[in-house]
Amino acid sequence: MTSPQTILHLDLDAFYASVEQLDRPELRGLPVIVGGDARRGVVCAASYEARKFGVRSAMPTAQAHRLCPRGVFLPPRFDRYAALSEQVMSIFGRFTPLVEPLSLDEAFLDVTASSALFGTGRDIATAIRKSVRAETGLAVSAGIAEVKFAAKIATDLGKPDGLMEVPRGGVREFLAPLPVGRLWGVGKVTEAALLRSGLALIGDVARADRERLERTFGSHGAHLHDLANGRDERVVIAHDEAKSVGAEETFEDDLLGAESLEPGLLAQSHRVARRLRAHGLRGHVVTLKVKYADFTLVTRRATLSEPADDAGILYRAVIDQLVRVDLTRPIRLTGISVSGFDAQPSQLGLFAEPESDTQKKRRTLNAVLDSIAARYGEDAVQPAAIAGRRKR
Ligand SMILES: [Mg+2]
Repeated sequence: MTSPQTILHLDLDAFYASVEQLDRPELRGLPVIVGGDARRGVVCAASYEARKFGVRSAMPTAQAHRLCPRGVFLPPRFDRYAALSEQVMSIFGRFTPLVEPLSLDEAFLDVTASSALFGTGRDIATAIRKSVRAETGLAVSAGIAEVKFAAKIATDLGKPDGLMEVPRGGVREFLAPLPVGRLWGVGKVTEAALLRSGLALIGDVARADRERLERTFGSHGAHLHDLANGRDERVVIAHDEAKSVGAEETFEDDLLGAESLEPGLLAQSHRVARRLRAHGLRGHVVTLKVKYADFTLVTRRATLSEPADDAGILYRAVIDQLVRVDLTRPIRLTGISVSGFDAQPSQLGLFAEPESDTQKKRRTLNAVLDSIAARYGEDAVQPAAIAGRRKR
């Protein structure tokens, strides 16, 4: 038997619509509906003001127009949402390397091992909500529980801008009074069937005879019985199982020669290093990608003796690779990525080796850079020591 987990579920409120209200303050307090065109599109997101009129996501835009004729209808701006999402996910990553994004605006976090550094699940959820609000201006709701699906339900019940915690050992009691439609995996059809069997509340399913549920619903019946009793074996799967962390940039004009490439590579090194640190990762393999004006692509790869999450180290590694790139041809894009991650995430540092003085200085400097970047934007700072270091 494993000890109880502390799982957070975090979900930005009315994400796309909130971003529009954030970027255009004159829209605050108005019913904002983000979605496709009125003829064939559907609603992607509706602000809480619009929800009062019955507008919901996935509803045809035409129907939303009928329900809320004075609504502000806007097309989605996915680039902007993705950039903010990345910022929010990196805030999550400061508290645990175990972040599992479900979509742009929603993630599970396993913070079981983070409590020594950051306190209880409630402390962490509170700190995250505060940071997201302060650094992005967005409201994120949080649910806390020992199992994933209960944390998600808690978030939904606490919305908007809420924080709800299921007490330890209390998942079953928390679920019991809720309608069966709240259970994960219960759609309209299963819900109707459960109601026909006289099972209206999750507590009814929890108390129902397991064999009878299996006879009626097959293996799904046993699963529903488990969930209703607060049993959910699913663990948080960190997206760092993703293979690499990278950044790239297409230049407005093609660039020629090493000198013209260096500022971009430096900025990319910083971006990648910051992302690595946000996720508590260090990697051994640094890959430089170069796309020429004719769209042919080359990659050059360096293996570091020590895994790194430091911009200076990444930058030197890619600069070393430039000698293996044909620099007489115009270049339209460069990119840097890091892979080959350390098996042990570095963020919590609980089992880390003692640091050398240089490592300690670098870590302190990086922590300062991260906090400045979080406040003033990604490219606000680049240490002159690295920027000036061209000849080695
Ligand atoms: Mg959301």
